[in-house]
Amino acid sequence: MARYRDAKCRLCRREGMKLFLKGARCFTDKCAIERRNYPPGQHGLNRGKLTPFGVQLREKQKAKRIYGVLESQFRKYFEWAEAQKGVTGENLLRLLELRLDNVVHRLGFAASRREGRQMVAHGHFQVNGRKVSVPSYLVKVGDVVQLRPTSKLVPRLDDNLNAGRGQVPQWLEVDPNEKKGTVRSLPLRDDIQIPVAEQLIVELYSK
Ligand code: SF4
Repeated sequence: MARYRDAKCRLCRREGMKLFLKGARCFTDKCAIERRNYPPGQHGLNRGKLTPFGVQLREKQKAKRIYGVLESQFRKYFEWAEAQKGVTGENLLRLLELRLDNVVHRLGFAASRREGRQMVAHGHFQVNGRKVSVPSYLVKVGDVVQLRPTSKLVPRLDDNLNAGRGQVPQWLEVDPNEKKGTVRSLPLRDDIQIPVAEQLIVELYSK
């Protein structure tokens, strides 16, 4: 299970916007975007204007970074999205949104996708009564995601739920007392509030 292990704030600085990769810190003035909103590196301040290819590339990198997915896996999601009926860009975002680590975050159990990924990988969640420790597991309509009874994460989940930084989207339903969430429907594009122009990703991969 490969993942990006370097500094997260660098990724936001490279994209020139908050990608909210670190949970609570992202809402404080310690956020690197608040302090140094220019690309990292020696030539960060001197980068020229983006070419059309560069614009498409940045959109793809942004989506990958928001969901914490590396290139090869992202490419596979794109191929699945292309093979599905409907609009490829929307299919792509929907597949990413259905990942279990994202669902745990969207339900408010985790402050960030990264925390959600860690919670899932450490085996704290079950789907329909069975333990699932694969962050990329794709949930389906009707699935019930719940904290495992043996998990000691209850105080952490309570903290995250009380912080309530984001609202639970309408395609999900959360029961904070039971530490349980249900997938009510598939997310529509309007439900996926991320600053990515998915059409540019489709254009990039269609070259
Ligand atoms: Fe991005 Fe959060 Fe770091 Fe700010 S604190 S740069 S939003 S990861």
